[in-house]
Amino acid sequence: MQQTLIIFKPSAIERGLTGEILNRFLRRGLTIAGMKMIMLDEAILREHYAHLVDRPFFPDIVKSMTASPVIVMVLRGVDVIKVVRAMTGATNSREAAPGTIRGDYGMSGQLNIIHASSSVEDAEAEVNRFFKPEEIFDYTPVQTPFIYGDDEI
Ligand code: ADP
Repeated sequence: MQQTLIIFKPSAIERGLTGEILNRFLRRGLTIAGMKMIMLDEAILREHYAHLVDRPFFPDIVKSMTASPVIVMVLRGVDVIKVVRAMTGATNSREAAPGTIRGDYGMSGQLNIIHASSSVEDAEAEVNRFFKPEEIFDYTPVQTPFIYGDDEI
């Protein structure tokens, strides 16, 4: 099954939104394959947001993403990258649709609650960036036959 990398940003951690957001993923039927709290630093953010390093707002990203610890998580499911991006909503929370995580919990383009991998290539690189192989758990929750049809897994 596919895996994706989520970061609960300081805007989720500090506002006590972690449980509500995690509950959305679990109710949807996604599986937690790995989860830990870490402190980000500029070096890993330069790697993670390499496509934004030259933008004028990059120092603000570093400041906001190091304002508190974050929770990094690997979620597993069929087509999970696309499913979680749809649940996440548009980058600017003010433009994110109601019902999405950013659209329900955020008012900022930058402090936009969570990160979610955007492609298969990014997800693989991001999971490897934040997790060692032994920190990812390959198990099949007993509820799986009630989440997917036999021909979907
Ligand atoms: P996404 O997180 O939706 O994949 P991007 O990869 O474009 O979006 O941007 C990464 C993160 O950088 C965003 O989630 C947001 O926190 C921040 N960011 C993006 N664009 C801006 C901007 N114009 N001003 C401030 N912060 C931004």
